[in-house]
Amino acid sequence: MPQDTADLVIVGAGTIGGWASVFAAELGARRVVVLDAGTAGAGASSRAAGIVRSQGGTATAVDLARWTTAFYRGQQERYGIDSGFRTLGYLILAFDEADGAAARERLAMQQERGLDSRWVDAAEAAELLPVLDEARITGATYCAEDGAIDPPRNVLAYTVALKAAGVDLRERTAATGLRIEGGRVTGVVTARGTVATERVILAGGVGQGALTALTGGPGVPVGGARHQIAVTSPHTALATGPLPMAFELATGLYWRQEEGGILFGMSNPLEEPGEAREVDWDNLRTIRTRLGELMPLTRELDLRRVWAATIDYTPDHLPILGPALDAAREPLGGVTVASPGGHGMMWGPAVARIAADLALHGTSDVTDATFLGPDRFDEHGASTLATDPIALPFPETVGS
Ligand SMILES: Cc1cc2nc3c(=O)[nH]c(=O)nc-3n(C[C@H](O)[C@H](O)[C@H](O)COP(=O)(O)OP(=O)(O)OC[C@H]3O[C@@H](n4cnc5c(N)ncnc54)[C@H](O)[C@@H]3O)c2cc1C
Repeated sequence: MPQDTADLVIVGAGTIGGWASVFAAELGARRVVVLDAGTAGAGASSRAAGIVRSQGGTATAVDLARWTTAFYRGQQERYGIDSGFRTLGYLILAFDEADGAAARERLAMQQERGLDSRWVDAAEAAELLPVLDEARITGATYCAEDGAIDPPRNVLAYTVALKAAGVDLRERTAATGLRIEGGRVTGVVTARGTVATERVILAGGVGQGALTALTGGPGVPVGGARHQIAVTSPHTALATGPLPMAFELATGLYWRQEEGGILFGMSNPLEEPGEAREVDWDNLRTIRTRLGELMPLTRELDLRRVWAATIDYTPDHLPILGPALDAAREPLGGVTVASPGGHGMMWGPAVARIAADLALHGTSDVTDATFLGPDRFDEHGASTLATDPIALPFPETVGS
């Protein structure tokens, strides 16, 4: 029987592993195998809200989102299918002077990166989004280029693209071990046998901690937390537009238009971290109350869809991109870690492209990723980097 070999094995067929396989094939990798314990996209990637925000709190976040947005915009031409990206604009709401001061500092950094973001006062925010109660806010930062994708369609888009690129997708095939010889990976072990390879990308979503621990080293600190989304019934005032999306940073409440109504989401940072897919109805009531304060007309709307899924996060809210560590915390040859830090819709394709670049060439020009590796965390998961301030409020630890 011929040996099962690959130029590159990618573990995880979410948006990171899926797009990384397409980019790797485009970069010249001849035999690319993608393994998934379940089916493509069945993790967070098909359950997300689809918000694509370039208004990040760090230069890294801005660069990753801008690259990703440009990618989404060019997808139809490149692959004949898209991820459903539409331009909506995004308001990040400010409620007091401190919010306003932080916003102006962020804007300066974003504009230096080339982002067309700006300050709008409360009246202009309400002009852009007439259903917003302008008395509640002091203003907002606004970026007209931001938008949203349709997450299930993104799964379809990368699945079509990877098949067209000749990638070998193996679903229901968990990676159970790594074969390591002389400080380098030589294969990925599955229940169906071992795929011999010198290059591996680990893209296991919320399972990334356990997956990266297959190196014998410390698993990367990727946590999981319940994240809830609900969609309201339609209303004529919400069916016009496009209306900009909006985000309240302190509570993590955000929303966007969806089928003539509003899709909104929020995490509960007080909840213990861990995988959770059941709806927490009490928390959902809290979210609805806050949404009703900010957009009073939503109080009269019903809910027509509600779901909860486990969202991935990292302690500093930044992606993890770089060589996996072995038991001695030394880089393990040939194994690249790729985690989007809970921002897989807004950063996913850029993170995937960097992962493919690093796996094949050791460097990437998407953005400076040299400081994003797993070696930035100590044994307790504490990062050497400053936390990105524009993120959902997650629990402060990633759990055990
Ligand atoms: C409710 C919700 C809303 C969200 N909203 C947004 C949003 O609006 N904007 C945004 O940017 N992000 C959002 N996110 C986050 C985003 O969805 C994730 O960051 C992204 O989908 C993660 O992609 P991934 O490929 O890393 O992981 P996943 O999509 O979870 O895929 C990982 C895959 O790895 C596989 N796997 C794990 N271990 C193994 C193994 N040992 N062997 C084989 N396969 C394995 C799993 O089966 C899984 O299919 C949201 C997430 C949730 C849950």
